[in-house]
Amino acid sequence: VMNSLPDTVYVVDIDDDHIHSTCYKNNDITMLLGYEKKSHEIVPNWFEYVTPEGLADLQAFMQRMRYAKAGTTHEHTTRLKHAQGHIVTIKFRNTPLVFDDNGEVTQYIGIGRDISEDANNQNRIAESERRYRLLAENMSDIVWETDTNVDFKFISSSIKRVLGHDSEDLLDLGPYAIFQESELRELMKETYKSIRFHKLVDYAEPAPIIRKDLMATHKNGHKILVEIKASLIWDEYKQLTGVLGVCRDVTEARNIEQQLLLASKVFENSSEAILITDNQLNIVKVNRAFTKITNYQSSEVIGKNPELLLNTGESNRDFFEQVGEHLVIDGYWQGEIQYRRKQGDIRTAWAGVSAIRDEQQEVQSLIMIMSDISDRKATEDRIHYLAFYDPLTQLPNRSQMLERLEAMLTKARQQNLWIGVLFIDLDRFKPINDSMGHPAGDRLLQLVAERLKNSVKSDDLVCRMSGDEFTIAFMESGDEASVTSTAITIGDRVLEALHRPFGLSSRDVFISASIGISIFPKDGQTVIELLKNADLAMYHAKNMGRDNLKFFTASMNRKAVQRLELENDLRQALARQEMEVYYQPQYCTKTRAIVGVEALLRWHHPTQGVIEPSVFIPIIEDTGMIVPLGEWVLKQACTHFVHWKTASKGNLLRMAVNVSGRQFGSDDFLAMVTRTLSETNMKATELELELTESILMDDVTHTLSILKELRKLGVKTAIDDFGTGYSSLNYLKQFPVDTLKIDRSFIQNLPHNDDDAQISRTIIAMGHNLGVGIVAEGVETEAQYNFLKAEHCEEVQGFYFSHPMPESELMTLFGAH
Ligand code: C2E
Ligand code: CA
Ligand code: CA
Repeated sequence: VMNSLPDTVYVVDIDDDHIHSTCYKNNDITMLLGYEKKSHEIVPNWFEYVTPEGLADLQAFMQRMRYAKAGTTHEHTTRLKHAQGHIVTIKFRNTPLVFDDNGEVTQYIGIGRDISEDANNQNRIAESERRYRLLAENMSDIVWETDTNVDFKFISSSIKRVLGHDSEDLLDLGPYAIFQESELRELMKETYKSIRFHKLVDYAEPAPIIRKDLMATHKNGHKILVEIKASLIWDEYKQLTGVLGVCRDVTEARNIEQQLLLASKVFENSSEAILITDNQLNIVKVNRAFTKITNYQSSEVIGKNPELLLNTGESNRDFFEQVGEHLVIDGYWQGEIQYRRKQGDIRTAWAGVSAIRDEQQEVQSLIMIMSDISDRKATEDRIHYLAFYDPLTQLPNRSQMLERLEAMLTKARQQNLWIGVLFIDLDRFKPINDSMGHPAGDRLLQLVAERLKNSVKSDDLVCRMSGDEFTIAFMESGDEASVTSTAITIGDRVLEALHRPFGLSSRDVFISASIGISIFPKDGQTVIELLKNADLAMYHAKNMGRDNLKFFTASMNRKAVQRLELENDLRQALARQEMEVYYQPQYCTKTRAIVGVEALLRWHHPTQGVIEPSVFIPIIEDTGMIVPLGEWVLKQACTHFVHWKTASKGNLLRMAVNVSGRQFGSDDFLAMVTRTLSETNMKATELELELTESILMDDVTHTLSILKELRKLGVKTAIDDFGTGYSSLNYLKQFPVDTLKIDRSFIQNLPHNDDDAQISRTIIAMGHNLGVGIVAEGVETEAQYNFLKAEHCEEVQGFYFSHPMPESELMTLFGAH
């Protein structure tokens, strides 16, 4: 029996010198260590196999056996090296057997057993417990265990961080210190219910069966929402021993969950398209509105760069740079973008882009929000177009001109550039518009606009300012000479282009233009100044005989200033009695008798002496002062005429009075004439109103009706400066006029100039054919007089006979007083 025991049983003697010697053993310890006992070998003493650190303990244990009491058992475990190299744990249990007289042990019996397996298991359990404890203590979550009465058996120290309590204290205080009793009971009830329900539960592998958010109270009183996850613990006899669980603060987590839920609702339901990228700027998420607006499904864009939306054909680099810059500076960009929809069309959106950064300030994601504003944009564009473009010619209008010229000025100032401004006014547009009708006039303006555009480079600015006024502005580097020469080139090209006939309703129409030019910076520092001066130069070009161009000069400005001063003086002239009417007699060619007089206005300026009508009439025309002044002249002339009639004993047939366009066009004109005639007791038939061709042609329908009315009244009419204007013979035939006054310019070079002689003859002949009288103006020489007499021109007027003279002088001429 003893030999077949797996354990080693031994009996050891202890002598008086405390030397231990084995007196019996069933087998050698070395057998437990895997060494076979072979007779011819001397197996070393098993002590040799004890691990060095364990040897002293083993020896001490053996020494202690000498003093062991009867009936006691002494255990010691030691580690020994196995033949195959691993460690074997052997447990010795000794019991004293024989005592000497002193009661000290002289013989004991013992048993040595290999407990390696148990030892390893225990070690493992200890190790794992240590590990779990470490884990439990170091987790931020609270780990706890209760018994079946829900009294804490263990709480990890992390509870202190979350709920303020020391875990030791809570073991005493119990769970109600942190949880509401009712809530906890409720939880337990549910738990037990589920236990009954889970009869079949695999107790060896406890699944978390409780999971609940509970409101806990912090030691300092405030509430904290904690999530509890707990499992039931069963012992090896399938008995419930308690609950093990973890518990964590979820106040913030639940808040974030709430917010995320809200955010995702907002994200999905937003009417604005939202696109989110990762840090590589690839799209990671888009919402429903995005799909609706762009027609891209989210699967089609996820993982792609948002550039696919912005690929509108134009270079996006500037755009990205600009957006990037803003994102760096303020983390946000917003503005208008063009984007491409799936089907390829380009639309406009209002977009906001924000960068989401992590703690290291690295961009984690871009969020782009966009709403389509194409429709609104189209309306806006239309409004903008209407506000900044001329609908007839499609050219930029005056507002845009002002704005863009302003921008050009800014640029020119920064970069030292020159700007040329051309002010273009069509000559004789109005008569064409009136005679051919407005649709034809509109068409003409459109054709002009086209030719103007074709006369300049594409980035030069061409605008329609108003009516028949256009402007061109161009910018140039270089010097004054080069900008001047460019201006001339453009100006000439424009004049040239307008010379070509315009085909309007199967008729060729010819026009020309007058162009004024101002140059920045020398002719003005502001848009207004430059335009004003170009306009001024244009007027000079017009006065120079039209169809040419003129640069602004400082003297023009001086003249403009002078003109302004005259204008001011003129406003007071009548009241200050500086105005006087002179009279120039008109003679019968045959008899050289005075048959009439022409009233000619004179202004005695307080400092500048007598000022010519050619200087001040245009001013009072422009300002409208001509209307009251003209009435005053007519009244003066009529009053004087009635006075002379009696003095000159009936020789005087006619008083000729000049009428300006402004007067003729005024609604009050006919009434004013009638009124004056009756106030002065003048016979209508003795009054002749002189009108120029341009006045008559200005508005043909109006002219015809007024002329007819005047004829009804008996008032005579004359066409002044005949031959210089743009007359249509066709109309001339219809106009009921009484006299043609051959312009002085044709008389001047008579009789030597053949052309003028021919023209004069023609006018006289034509007048006779139409049954109207002819007056030759500006007759200065006898030769001129003789020519006119030979050609049967009825009447003559000029310095050869008389200069215009004051009323008193004329009275002397009549020999009356
Ligand atoms: P107009 O109606 O052609 O007047 C004739 C102009 O020729 C007058 O100039 C007169 O002085 C000038 N004249 C007459 N005979 C000769 C001559 O032999 N040689 C030269 N070189 N000139 C001669 P004036 O008085 O300076 O008037 C200029 C223009 O001013 C007039 O041209 C007329 O259009 C306008 N005007 C003058 N008075 C009035 C007025 O009361 N009302 C209006 N609306 N216009 C007026
Ligand atoms: Ca006249
Ligand atoms: Ca005249």
